[in-house]
Amino acid sequence: MVTETVKFIQNLYQTEAFIPLHEPRFVGNEKKYLNECIDSTFVSSVGKFVDQFETEFARTVGAKYAIATVNGTAALHISLILAGVERDDEVITQPLTFIATCNAISYIGAKPIFLDVDLDTMGLSPKAVRDFLEKHCVLTDEKCLNGTTGKTIKACVPMHTFGHPCRIDELKKICDEWHIALVEDAAESLGSYYKGKHTGTFGCVGAFSFNGNKIITSGGGGIIVTDDELLAKRAKHITTTAKVPHKWEYVHDEIGYNYRLPNLNAALLCAQLEQLERFLENKRIVAAEYKEFFMSQNIRFVEEPLNAKSNYWLNTILLDNMQARDEFLDYTNTNGVMTRPIWALMNKLEMFKACQCDNLENSLFLEERVVNIPSSVRL
Ligand SMILES: *Cc1c(COP(=O)(O)O)cnc(C)c1O
Repeated sequence: MVTETVKFIQNLYQTEAFIPLHEPRFVGNEKKYLNECIDSTFVSSVGKFVDQFETEFARTVGAKYAIATVNGTAALHISLILAGVERDDEVITQPLTFIATCNAISYIGAKPIFLDVDLDTMGLSPKAVRDFLEKHCVLTDEKCLNGTTGKTIKACVPMHTFGHPCRIDELKKICDEWHIALVEDAAESLGSYYKGKHTGTFGCVGAFSFNGNKIITSGGGGIIVTDDELLAKRAKHITTTAKVPHKWEYVHDEIGYNYRLPNLNAALLCAQLEQLERFLENKRIVAAEYKEFFMSQNIRFVEEPLNAKSNYWLNTILLDNMQARDEFLDYTNTNGVMTRPIWALMNKLEMFKACQCDNLENSLFLEERVVNIPSSVRL
C-alpha cells in the first residue's frame, strides 16, 4: 500500500527526484516586480508594492483593511493586541496548531487554554468551547471570568487547519455571547471559504502568513485583516514603531514594533497574488486525484468540511494508528517523498504543560494518525 502511494505521488508530480511537501512556484511577474522594486530603491517598508498588495489582498478576502507584516507570527501578535489581550489574560485556542499561535499569545504575557478540535475540520470545536465556558466560566461586567484561574478570557483563536475552515460562524456566536474577541489564525487558509465568506474575515481581526511553505509566499511575510477602521489604523501605527506622523520629527507615542513588511517582499507577493486563482484550481485537481487514489487504497483522505471550500493547502490522510503512521512516514521519507506527521500537541510542550486544558480526545486521535503528503502546485 505504501509502495503504491510512493509510485502514485511520483507519477502525480512526474518525477523520481525528491518531492518536497510544499514548494513555492515563481512563474509569474515575480522577477519583473522585484527588478522594478530594486530600481526604485524603495526596498524597505515604504513603497508602492506594499500599498498595492494591501489593497489587492483586502479585496481578495473581502475585508475593508489589510496591514502587511514581516511574518504571520507578527500578524498574530499584533492581532491579539488589537483584540485587547493583555498580560495575565487568557486566550482559548486549539492544541492542534503550529507553535506560532501559542508563541504570539505568550509574547503578550497571556496564557493559552487548550480546547478540543472537531474531527472533520481539525479546527477548534464550538461544542468544546461552549462546554468549557458553561462548566468553568461566568460573565461579569461584560467580562468572561475563568472560575478555575480567576483570570479573564479575552480572546479565542481558532485555526483553519491545513486550509480546512473550522465552524467559524458558530464560534463567532459563542464568542459574542461571552464577550470574547474572535481572532482568526488564517495563516494556512488563504483561498478558503466558509459558507461563501473568506476565512479570516469572521473575527474582529484575522492573520495570514506568507512563509515559504504557504500557498503564496514572499519568503517571509504576513498580513492582518479587519473591517474596523480604528483597529486598522492602530495596526499600522504599532507595526511601524508607533511613530507619530510628522515631516521631520521623531516622536513615538507608545512602545511599538518594527513589524512592517518590506517593499521587496511585497513586490514578490503582488506577483504571487496574481496567480492565486490558478494555484487554487491546480491544488483542487491534485486533491481530487489524491482522493480517488486513497479511496482505492482504503486510506482515509481528509476532504473539505460541509459548507466549506478549502484551499487544500496541505493534503492530509488519516492512518489507522501510530504504528501504521510511523511505517508510512519512514517508507515515504526514505524513498524521496516528503511526508510528515501533524504537530505535537501544544499542551504537551514544556512551555505550555501547565496551561489549562479540557477533554482533548479528538486532538489526541488526530495527533497519532494525521500525515501530510506532498501538495505543491503542479507545474
Ligand atoms: C505558518 C503559520 C503561522 C505563521 O507563521 P510565520 O512563519 O510566522 O509566517 C501561524 N499559524 C499557523 C497555524 C501557521 O501554519
